[in-house]
Amino acid sequence: MYDFLIIGGGIIGMSVAMQLAKKYPDSKIALVEKEKSAGKHQTGHNSGVIHAGVYYTPGSLKARFCFEGNKATKAFCEDNGIKYDICGKLLVATTSLEVERMKALWERTLENGLERFWLDSLQLKEKEPNITGLAGIFFPSSGIVNYVEITNAMAKRFEENGGKVFYDTEVRGLTEHSQGMVIKTNQGQFESRYVVACSGLMSDRIVRMLDIDPNFIICPFRGEYYQLPSKHNALVKHLIYPIPDPDVPFLGIHLTRMIDGSITVGPNAVLAWSREGYKKSNFSYHDLSEMIRHAGIRRVIARHFKTGIIEMKNSFCKQGYLKIVQKYCPTLLKEDLQPYPAGVRAQSVSNDGHLIEDFLFVNTPSSVHVCNAPSPAATSAIPIGAHILEKVEEMVNSK
Ligand SMILES: Cc1cc2nc3c(=O)[nH]c(=O)nc-3n(C[C@H](O)[C@H](O)[C@H](O)COP(=O)(O)OP(=O)(O)OC[C@H]3O[C@@H](n4cnc5c(N)ncnc54)[C@H](O)[C@@H]3O)c2cc1C
Repeated sequence: MYDFLIIGGGIIGMSVAMQLAKKYPDSKIALVEKEKSAGKHQTGHNSGVIHAGVYYTPGSLKARFCFEGNKATKAFCEDNGIKYDICGKLLVATTSLEVERMKALWERTLENGLERFWLDSLQLKEKEPNITGLAGIFFPSSGIVNYVEITNAMAKRFEENGGKVFYDTEVRGLTEHSQGMVIKTNQGQFESRYVVACSGLMSDRIVRMLDIDPNFIICPFRGEYYQLPSKHNALVKHLIYPIPDPDVPFLGIHLTRMIDGSITVGPNAVLAWSREGYKKSNFSYHDLSEMIRHAGIRRVIARHFKTGIIEMKNSFCKQGYLKIVQKYCPTLLKEDLQPYPAGVRAQSVSNDGHLIEDFLFVNTPSSVHVCNAPSPAATSAIPIGAHILEKVEEMVNSK
């Protein structure tokens, strides 16, 4: 019998595992992960940005955890010898509508306590000669890192403190009883007093294993990237972001300096036909039919129909994708967009048809489930872990 069992070896699961093992050194803790190593899904398919916390509603969990996570991630990298770079980020407005939207973000970032600098078009050009815009905002605290490296370092710390990681172990059933949980996996049965589920793209299915309707469904959105040829590695010195559409929780196609020195372009946001489908051609009948049957997803599709069609068109048409980037980086050409692996976002959609914006957690007497942890959850992984530990403590005290 374990005291705690964590489902999912992405950055959130490993952060929880590491912090639990530190807080409860005498307890027996296991983490089960269905893949052969850590960080194989969202954690290993992202932009690698340590976000500052620009976009999030003041007072939301996202705003709070991102702000704290920005500092905590840097401190964790320092303590564990992980390479990171605080290169700063530039938000660039290219039309008068975007300047208006950027003014709203300027106010929001004040409320979120961020250091930032408004730049006119000349100052913008001085800072980034290859970028064009009417105005910009510079955020010095944004940075870049490899989140799989962080996740592996968390796993190491967890194991050093007595935790055990079981890879190749997929949870297939959960039964809750008065003493805890029975966890059925492809490698046999585990028992644990408490369970923390951090299963990303599968989070709704894990809740449903307990015969609970989670009131949301995971809607997978593929984020497709390109990479620039290495001759362009010095094209920009900062992370370059457009002004996002306030109606959707995605940041828009950006130019991202990666920690390996390369630059990626992306990601877009297209509905994925398979939850763990990283290629355009990946298709899962099960995943797709579940999406089509869900009234909430149908409402989201209806509400964002036009945006969805444009995203899909640009997914197949490189020229369309390029046009979006050329708005702020006009020198890029079609041949500069080279293939790069996509990621799939686990975006929760409520049964009543809303894209859930904030981080979301669901509790039962013996379990905590992370139910919505899209971007900036990699940046926020350490404070999210601390938040879950508070929930675990409440569970332990109430038994
Ligand atoms: C394209 C893209 C770009 C992003 N860019 C950024 C960024 O720049 N900065 C940032 O902060 N965030 C970013 N994010 C968000 C960030 O990557 C995720 O929010 C974060 O990685 C979520 O971590 P997680 O541990 O919840 O999920 P995951 O990394 O998906 O981990 C979940 C784990 O659970 C395992 N699992 C699932 N079901 C089971 C089961 N039944 N049994 C056992 N194991 C199971 C999976 O195999 C997986 O390893 C981005 C995400 C995407 C997709």
